[in-house]
Amino acid sequence: MAPKRDYYEVLGISKSATTDEIKAAYRQLAKKVHPDVNKDKSSEEKFKEANEAYEVLSDPQKRKLYDQFGHAGVAQGGQGPGQGFGGDFEGFGDLGDIFGDIFDNVFTGGAGRGRSRRPRSNRGEDLQVRLTVALSEAAFGVQKTIKINHAKACAKCSGSGARPGTSSKTCANCKGTGTVQFRQGFFSLSQTCPRCQGEGRVIESPCAECRGQGRVRTLEPITVKVPPGVQEGTALRVTGAGEAGPGGGPAGDLYVVIHQEADPRFERRDDDILSEQKISITQAALGAEISLPSLDGKVTLRVPPGTQTGTVFRVRDGGLPHLSGRGRGDHLVKVIVEVPAHLTARQKELLKELAKTLGEDEPDKDDDSLFKKMFGK
Ligand SMILES: [Zn+2]
Ligand SMILES: [Zn+2]
Repeated sequence: MAPKRDYYEVLGISKSATTDEIKAAYRQLAKKVHPDVNKDKSSEEKFKEANEAYEVLSDPQKRKLYDQFGHAGVAQGGQGPGQGFGGDFEGFGDLGDIFGDIFDNVFTGGAGRGRSRRPRSNRGEDLQVRLTVALSEAAFGVQKTIKINHAKACAKCSGSGARPGTSSKTCANCKGTGTVQFRQGFFSLSQTCPRCQGEGRVIESPCAECRGQGRVRTLEPITVKVPPGVQEGTALRVTGAGEAGPGGGPAGDLYVVIHQEADPRFERRDDDILSEQKISITQAALGAEISLPSLDGKVTLRVPPGTQTGTVFRVRDGGLPHLSGRGRGDHLVKVIVEVPAHLTARQKELLKELAKTLGEDEPDKDDDSLFKKMFGK
Protein backbone atom coordinates (compact mmCIF):
# COMPACT_ATOMS: atom_id res chain seq x y z
CA MET A 1 0.00 0.00 0.00
CA ALA A 2 1.28 3.45 -0.95
CA PRO A 3 2.18 5.75 1.94
CA LYS A 4 -0.63 8.09 2.91
CA ARG A 5 -0.47 11.47 1.24
CA ASP A 6 -0.59 14.62 3.29
CA TYR A 7 -4.20 15.75 3.72
CA TYR A 8 -3.41 19.33 2.79
CA GLU A 9 -1.72 18.08 -0.35
CA VAL A 10 -4.71 15.90 -1.18
CA LEU A 11 -7.02 18.89 -1.12
CA GLY A 12 -4.42 21.18 -2.66
CA ILE A 13 -4.51 23.78 0.12
CA SER A 14 -2.02 25.41 2.45
CA LYS A 15 -1.57 24.52 6.10
CA SER A 16 -3.14 27.83 7.02
CA ALA A 17 -6.28 27.32 4.95
CA THR A 18 -9.49 28.60 6.51
CA THR A 19 -12.52 26.39 7.05
CA ASP A 20 -14.15 27.96 4.00
CA GLU A 21 -11.12 27.29 1.84
CA ILE A 22 -11.03 23.67 2.94
CA LYS A 23 -14.69 23.32 2.15
CA ALA A 24 -14.32 24.91 -1.27
CA ALA A 25 -11.28 22.83 -2.15
CA TYR A 26 -12.99 19.65 -1.11
CA ARG A 27 -16.13 20.50 -3.03
CA GLN A 28 -14.12 21.08 -6.19
CA LEU A 29 -12.17 17.87 -5.81
CA ALA A 30 -15.17 15.72 -4.91
CA LYS A 31 -17.00 16.80 -8.03
CA LYS A 32 -13.96 16.01 -10.12
CA VAL A 33 -13.17 12.57 -8.76
CA HIS A 34 -16.59 11.23 -7.85
CA PRO A 35 -16.62 7.71 -9.32
CA ASP A 36 -19.95 8.33 -10.98
CA VAL A 37 -18.56 11.29 -12.86
CA ASN A 38 -14.99 10.26 -13.37
CA LYS A 39 -14.72 6.86 -14.99
CA ASP A 40 -10.99 6.71 -14.45
CA LYS A 41 -10.03 3.62 -12.46
CA SER A 42 -8.21 5.59 -9.80
CA SER A 43 -11.14 7.91 -9.17
CA GLU A 44 -12.64 5.74 -6.46
CA GLU A 45 -9.40 5.77 -4.49
CA LYS A 46 -9.05 9.50 -5.00
CA PHE A 47 -12.60 10.07 -3.87
CA LYS A 48 -11.99 8.08 -0.70
CA GLU A 49 -8.78 9.97 -0.10
CA ALA A 50 -10.52 13.32 -0.54
CA ASN A 51 -13.30 12.28 1.84
CA GLU A 52 -10.81 11.20 4.43
CA ALA A 53 -8.81 14.41 4.16
CA TYR A 54 -11.92 16.52 4.44
CA GLU A 55 -13.24 14.51 7.34
CA VAL A 56 -10.14 15.34 9.33
CA LEU A 57 -9.34 18.88 8.21
CA SER A 58 -12.89 20.17 8.51
CA ASP A 59 -13.06 19.11 12.16
CA PRO A 60 -11.07 21.62 14.25
CA GLN A 61 -10.15 19.01 16.86
CA LYS A 62 -9.05 16.38 14.41
CA ARG A 63 -7.19 18.97 12.39
CA LYS A 64 -5.28 20.04 15.48
CA LEU A 65 -4.29 16.46 16.20
CA TYR A 66 -3.31 15.93 12.59
CA ASP A 67 -1.20 19.10 12.56
CA GLN A 68 0.64 17.92 15.67
CA PHE A 69 1.00 14.23 15.05
CA GLY A 70 0.31 13.66 11.40
CA HIS A 71 -1.63 10.62 10.26
CA ALA A 72 -0.87 8.84 13.52
CA GLY A 73 -2.79 11.50 15.40
CA VAL A 74 -6.05 10.74 13.66
CA ALA A 75 -5.64 7.06 12.87
CA GLN A 76 -8.64 4.91 13.58
CA GLY A 77 -9.17 1.20 13.65
CA GLY A 78 -10.47 0.04 10.29
CA GLN A 79 -9.91 3.24 8.39
CA GLY A 80 -12.32 3.57 5.57
CA PRO A 81 -15.19 5.58 4.27
CA GLY A 82 -17.76 6.26 6.90
CA GLN A 83 -15.74 4.74 9.68
CA GLY A 84 -15.79 6.62 12.96
CA PHE A 85 -18.03 9.21 11.52
CA GLY A 86 -21.46 8.27 12.77
CA GLY A 87 -23.39 10.97 14.54
CA ASP A 88 -20.99 13.74 13.63
CA PHE A 89 -23.27 15.32 11.07
CA GLU A 90 -24.39 18.19 13.23
CA GLY A 91 -20.98 19.77 13.06
CA PHE A 92 -21.39 20.43 9.35
CA GLY A 93 -24.15 22.86 8.76
CA ASP A 94 -23.49 23.14 5.08
CA LEU A 95 -23.41 19.47 4.23
CA GLY A 96 -26.67 19.87 2.40
CA ASP A 97 -24.95 22.26 0.02
CA ILE A 98 -22.16 19.95 -0.92
CA PHE A 99 -24.48 17.04 -1.03
CA GLY A 100 -26.88 18.93 -3.25
CA ASP A 101 -24.12 20.05 -5.60
CA ILE A 102 -22.84 16.62 -6.15
CA PHE A 103 -26.27 15.17 -6.54
CA ASP A 104 -27.11 17.73 -9.17
CA ASN A 105 -24.06 16.79 -11.12
CA VAL A 106 -24.12 13.11 -10.65
CA PHE A 107 -27.63 11.96 -10.31
CA THR A 108 -29.57 13.93 -12.82
CA GLY A 109 -27.35 13.33 -15.79
CA GLY A 110 -28.65 9.82 -16.25
CA ALA A 111 -25.36 8.52 -14.91
CA GLY A 112 -26.34 4.92 -15.19
CA ARG A 113 -29.19 2.55 -14.95
CA GLY A 114 -31.29 2.98 -11.85
CA ARG A 115 -29.20 5.78 -10.45
CA SER A 116 -31.23 8.57 -11.92
CA ARG A 117 -34.12 9.92 -9.98
CA ARG A 118 -36.38 9.58 -12.98
CA PRO A 119 -38.70 6.63 -12.75
CA ARG A 120 -37.41 3.64 -14.65
CA SER A 121 -39.25 2.86 -17.79
CA ASN A 122 -39.75 -0.79 -18.54
CA ARG A 123 -40.42 -0.20 -22.22
CA GLY A 124 -38.17 -2.29 -24.43
CA GLU A 125 -35.51 -0.76 -26.63
CA ASP A 126 -36.02 0.32 -30.21
CA LEU A 127 -34.19 -1.57 -32.92
CA GLN A 128 -32.90 -0.42 -36.26
CA VAL A 129 -32.22 -2.45 -39.40
CA ARG A 130 -31.29 -1.55 -42.96
CA LEU A 131 -33.38 -2.76 -45.85
CA THR A 132 -32.08 -2.66 -49.42
CA VAL A 133 -34.68 -2.18 -52.14
CA ALA A 134 -34.42 -1.99 -55.92
CA LEU A 135 -35.34 1.24 -57.71
CA SER A 136 -38.54 -0.32 -59.04
CA GLU A 137 -39.48 -1.39 -55.51
CA ALA A 138 -38.83 2.11 -54.23
CA ALA A 139 -40.94 3.44 -57.08
CA PHE A 140 -43.99 1.28 -56.71
CA GLY A 141 -43.76 0.01 -53.15
CA VAL A 142 -43.18 -3.52 -52.00
CA GLN A 143 -43.94 -5.78 -49.10
CA LYS A 144 -40.86 -7.42 -47.64
CA THR A 145 -40.37 -9.95 -44.89
CA ILE A 146 -37.22 -9.56 -42.86
CA LYS A 147 -35.96 -11.76 -40.04
CA ILE A 148 -35.44 -9.81 -36.84
CA ASN A 149 -33.57 -11.16 -33.85
CA HIS A 150 -35.32 -9.52 -30.94
CA ALA A 151 -36.46 -10.24 -27.41
CA LYS A 152 -40.06 -11.38 -27.15
CA ALA A 153 -42.14 -11.63 -24.01
CA CYS A 154 -41.88 -15.21 -22.77
CA ALA A 155 -45.05 -17.03 -23.77
CA LYS A 156 -44.92 -19.42 -20.84
CA CYS A 157 -44.95 -16.79 -18.07
CA SER A 158 -46.45 -13.92 -20.10
CA GLY A 159 -43.30 -11.92 -19.55
CA SER A 160 -43.46 -11.92 -15.77
CA GLY A 161 -40.43 -14.19 -15.36
CA ALA A 162 -42.18 -16.07 -12.55
CA ARG A 163 -43.04 -19.73 -12.90
CA PRO A 164 -46.68 -20.07 -14.00
CA GLY A 165 -48.87 -20.16 -10.90
CA THR A 166 -46.39 -18.11 -8.86
CA SER A 167 -45.69 -14.40 -8.89
CA SER A 168 -42.86 -12.05 -8.05
CA LYS A 169 -42.59 -10.66 -4.51
CA THR A 170 -41.75 -7.19 -3.27
CA CYS A 171 -37.99 -7.02 -2.73
CA ALA A 172 -37.29 -7.14 1.01
CA ASN A 173 -33.91 -5.48 0.60
CA CYS A 174 -35.24 -2.18 -0.81
CA LYS A 175 -38.90 -2.62 0.17
CA GLY A 176 -39.88 -2.35 -3.46
CA THR A 177 -38.26 1.03 -4.15
CA GLY A 178 -35.46 -0.40 -6.28
CA THR A 179 -32.84 1.72 -4.55
CA VAL A 180 -30.92 1.43 -1.33
CA GLN A 181 -29.12 4.11 0.65
CA PHE A 182 -25.51 3.66 1.60
CA ARG A 183 -22.92 5.82 3.24
CA GLN A 184 -19.67 6.94 1.76
CA GLY A 185 -17.82 9.22 4.10
CA PHE A 186 -20.55 11.48 5.33
CA PHE A 187 -22.55 11.07 2.17
CA SER A 188 -25.74 9.18 2.03
CA LEU A 189 -26.07 8.00 -1.53
CA SER A 190 -28.69 6.06 -3.43
CA GLN A 191 -27.70 2.96 -5.28
CA THR A 192 -29.60 0.49 -7.39
CA CYS A 193 -30.72 -2.32 -5.14
CA PRO A 194 -28.28 -5.19 -5.81
CA ARG A 195 -30.84 -7.82 -4.83
CA CYS A 196 -33.53 -6.90 -7.39
CA GLN A 197 -31.39 -4.86 -9.83
CA GLY A 198 -33.69 -1.91 -9.24
CA GLU A 199 -36.84 -3.76 -10.25
CA GLY A 200 -38.35 -3.53 -6.75
CA ARG A 201 -39.52 -7.08 -7.05
CA VAL A 202 -37.81 -10.44 -6.87
CA ILE A 203 -38.79 -13.70 -8.46
CA GLU A 204 -38.55 -16.60 -6.08
CA SER A 205 -39.50 -19.38 -8.49
CA PRO A 206 -38.25 -18.33 -11.91
CA CYS A 207 -39.94 -19.50 -15.09
CA ALA A 208 -38.01 -22.43 -16.55
CA GLU A 209 -38.52 -21.27 -20.13
CA CYS A 210 -36.89 -17.82 -19.78
CA ARG A 211 -34.96 -18.46 -16.55
CA GLY A 212 -36.78 -15.59 -14.87
CA GLN A 213 -35.93 -13.05 -17.57
CA GLY A 214 -39.49 -12.75 -18.82
CA ARG A 215 -38.04 -12.43 -22.31
CA VAL A 216 -36.60 -14.84 -24.80
CA ARG A 217 -34.55 -14.02 -27.90
CA THR A 218 -36.39 -14.99 -31.02
CA LEU A 219 -35.63 -14.83 -34.71
CA GLU A 220 -38.91 -13.69 -36.11
CA PRO A 221 -40.11 -12.78 -39.59
CA ILE A 222 -41.46 -9.24 -39.71
CA THR A 223 -43.40 -7.92 -42.65
CA VAL A 224 -42.58 -4.38 -43.75
CA LYS A 225 -44.66 -2.37 -46.17
CA VAL A 226 -42.42 -0.12 -48.25
CA PRO A 227 -44.53 2.73 -49.62
CA PRO A 228 -44.19 3.95 -53.24
CA GLY A 229 -41.74 6.82 -53.63
CA VAL A 230 -39.64 5.90 -50.61
CA GLN A 231 -36.34 7.80 -50.42
CA GLU A 232 -32.82 6.75 -49.49
CA GLY A 233 -32.61 6.87 -45.69
CA THR A 234 -36.36 6.88 -45.06
CA ALA A 235 -36.99 5.18 -41.69
CA LEU A 236 -40.16 3.11 -41.57
CA ARG A 237 -41.44 2.36 -38.10
CA VAL A 238 -42.90 -1.01 -37.25
CA THR A 239 -44.61 -0.41 -33.92
CA GLY A 240 -43.88 -2.97 -31.24
CA ALA A 241 -41.38 -4.97 -33.28
CA GLY A 242 -38.38 -3.85 -31.20
CA GLU A 243 -37.21 -5.48 -27.96
CA ALA A 244 -39.85 -6.64 -25.51
CA GLY A 245 -39.77 -4.68 -22.27
CA PRO A 246 -38.40 -6.27 -19.10
CA GLY A 247 -40.93 -7.60 -16.62
CA GLY A 248 -43.69 -7.74 -19.21
CA GLY A 249 -43.23 -4.09 -20.24
CA PRO A 250 -44.28 -2.83 -23.68
CA ALA A 251 -42.02 -3.58 -26.64
CA GLY A 252 -39.96 -0.90 -28.37
CA ASP A 253 -40.32 -0.16 -32.06
CA LEU A 254 -38.38 -1.39 -35.06
CA TYR A 255 -37.04 1.20 -37.48
CA VAL A 256 -36.41 -0.06 -40.98
CA VAL A 257 -34.03 2.30 -42.75
CA ILE A 258 -34.32 2.18 -46.53
CA HIS A 259 -31.28 1.86 -48.74
CA GLN A 260 -32.06 2.05 -52.42
CA GLU A 261 -29.77 0.09 -54.69
CA ALA A 262 -28.33 1.89 -57.69
CA ASP A 263 -29.97 0.92 -60.98
CA PRO A 264 -27.67 0.58 -64.02
CA ARG A 265 -30.35 1.96 -66.33
CA PHE A 266 -31.52 5.00 -64.44
CA GLU A 267 -30.09 7.65 -62.23
CA ARG A 268 -32.45 8.93 -59.59
CA ARG A 269 -32.69 12.58 -58.70
CA ASP A 270 -35.35 12.94 -56.01
CA ASP A 271 -38.45 11.75 -57.79
CA ASP A 272 -37.10 12.22 -61.31
CA ILE A 273 -35.12 9.59 -63.14
CA LEU A 274 -32.49 10.23 -65.80
CA SER A 275 -31.34 7.93 -68.56
CA GLU A 276 -29.31 8.08 -71.75
CA GLN A 277 -30.53 6.74 -75.05
CA LYS A 278 -28.31 6.07 -78.05
CA ILE A 279 -29.73 6.78 -81.51
CA SER A 280 -28.13 6.46 -84.93
CA ILE A 281 -27.16 9.36 -87.18
CA THR A 282 -30.00 8.57 -89.54
CA GLN A 283 -32.56 8.43 -86.71
CA ALA A 284 -31.22 11.78 -85.52
CA ALA A 285 -31.32 13.30 -88.95
CA LEU A 286 -34.58 11.84 -90.21
CA GLY A 287 -36.49 11.50 -86.95
CA ALA A 288 -37.71 8.22 -85.47
CA GLU A 289 -39.76 6.47 -82.85
CA ILE A 290 -37.44 4.96 -80.30
CA SER A 291 -38.38 2.21 -77.89
CA LEU A 292 -36.64 2.66 -74.54
CA PRO A 293 -36.78 1.24 -71.02
CA SER A 294 -38.69 3.20 -68.40
CA LEU A 295 -39.92 2.53 -64.88
CA ASP A 296 -43.17 1.39 -66.44
CA GLY A 297 -41.57 -0.97 -68.95
CA LYS A 298 -40.89 -0.16 -72.61
CA VAL A 299 -42.10 3.22 -73.81
CA THR A 300 -41.88 4.92 -77.17
CA LEU A 301 -40.11 8.24 -77.57
CA ARG A 302 -40.69 10.30 -80.70
CA VAL A 303 -37.40 11.87 -81.83
CA PRO A 304 -38.00 14.71 -84.29
CA PRO A 305 -35.90 15.09 -87.46
CA GLY A 306 -32.67 17.04 -86.92
CA THR A 307 -32.24 16.02 -83.29
CA GLN A 308 -28.82 17.02 -81.98
CA THR A 309 -26.74 14.84 -79.67
CA GLY A 310 -27.19 15.77 -76.00
CA THR A 311 -30.80 16.86 -76.44
CA VAL A 312 -32.87 16.04 -73.34
CA PHE A 313 -36.46 14.89 -73.73
CA ARG A 314 -38.83 14.97 -70.80
CA VAL A 315 -41.28 12.12 -70.38
CA ARG A 316 -43.89 13.57 -68.03
CA ASP A 317 -44.89 11.42 -65.05
CA GLY A 318 -42.28 8.84 -65.98
CA GLY A 319 -40.48 9.26 -62.65
CA LEU A 320 -41.18 8.00 -59.13
CA PRO A 321 -44.44 8.68 -57.36
CA HIS A 322 -44.19 11.46 -54.79
CA LEU A 323 -44.17 9.98 -51.29
CA SER A 324 -47.08 12.29 -50.47
CA GLY A 325 -49.14 10.07 -52.72
CA ARG A 326 -49.93 12.70 -55.32
CA GLY A 327 -48.34 12.82 -58.74
CA ARG A 328 -45.03 11.56 -60.05
CA GLY A 329 -41.70 12.91 -61.10
CA ASP A 330 -40.52 12.92 -64.72
CA HIS A 331 -38.23 10.73 -66.77
CA LEU A 332 -35.51 12.75 -68.50
CA VAL A 333 -33.98 11.08 -71.54
CA LYS A 334 -30.70 12.41 -72.90
CA VAL A 335 -30.18 11.43 -76.51
CA ILE A 336 -26.69 10.46 -77.66
CA VAL A 337 -26.17 10.30 -81.43
CA GLU A 338 -23.83 7.45 -82.25
CA VAL A 339 -21.41 7.80 -85.11
CA PRO A 340 -20.88 4.42 -86.79
CA ALA A 341 -17.33 3.20 -86.24
CA HIS A 342 -17.21 0.68 -89.06
CA LEU A 343 -18.72 1.29 -92.47
CA THR A 344 -19.04 -0.98 -95.45
CA ALA A 345 -17.84 0.23 -98.86
CA ARG A 346 -21.46 0.80 -99.88
CA GLN A 347 -22.23 2.84 -96.74
CA LYS A 348 -19.11 4.95 -97.31
CA GLU A 349 -20.23 5.61 -100.85
CA LEU A 350 -23.67 6.73 -99.65
CA LEU A 351 -22.18 9.07 -97.10
CA LYS A 352 -19.81 10.60 -99.68
CA GLU A 353 -22.82 11.12 -101.86
CA LEU A 354 -24.53 12.83 -98.96
CA ALA A 355 -21.46 14.99 -98.30
CA LYS A 356 -21.46 16.13 -101.91
CA THR A 357 -25.10 17.24 -101.63
CA LEU A 358 -24.22 19.11 -98.44
CA GLY A 359 -21.65 21.05 -100.47
CA GLU A 360 -18.60 19.63 -98.77
CA ASP A 361 -15.27 19.70 -100.64
CA GLU A 362 -12.94 16.73 -101.08
CA PRO A 363 -15.34 14.24 -99.63
CA ASP A 364 -12.92 11.38 -100.23
CA LYS A 365 -10.29 12.72 -97.80
CA ASP A 366 -12.11 11.27 -94.82
CA ASP A 367 -15.51 11.24 -93.22
CA ASP A 368 -14.67 13.60 -90.39
CA SER A 369 -15.93 16.77 -92.06
CA LEU A 370 -19.37 15.34 -92.47
CA PHE A 371 -19.64 14.41 -88.83
CA LYS A 372 -18.23 17.74 -87.89
CA LYS A 373 -21.03 19.40 -89.74
CA MET A 374 -23.68 17.12 -88.37
CA PHE A 375 -22.63 16.85 -84.75
CA GLY A 376 -20.36 19.82 -84.18
CA LYS A 377 -17.44 17.59 -83.24
ZN1 LIG B 1 -40.88 -17.14 -18.82
ZN1 LIG C 1 -34.56 -4.46 -4.18
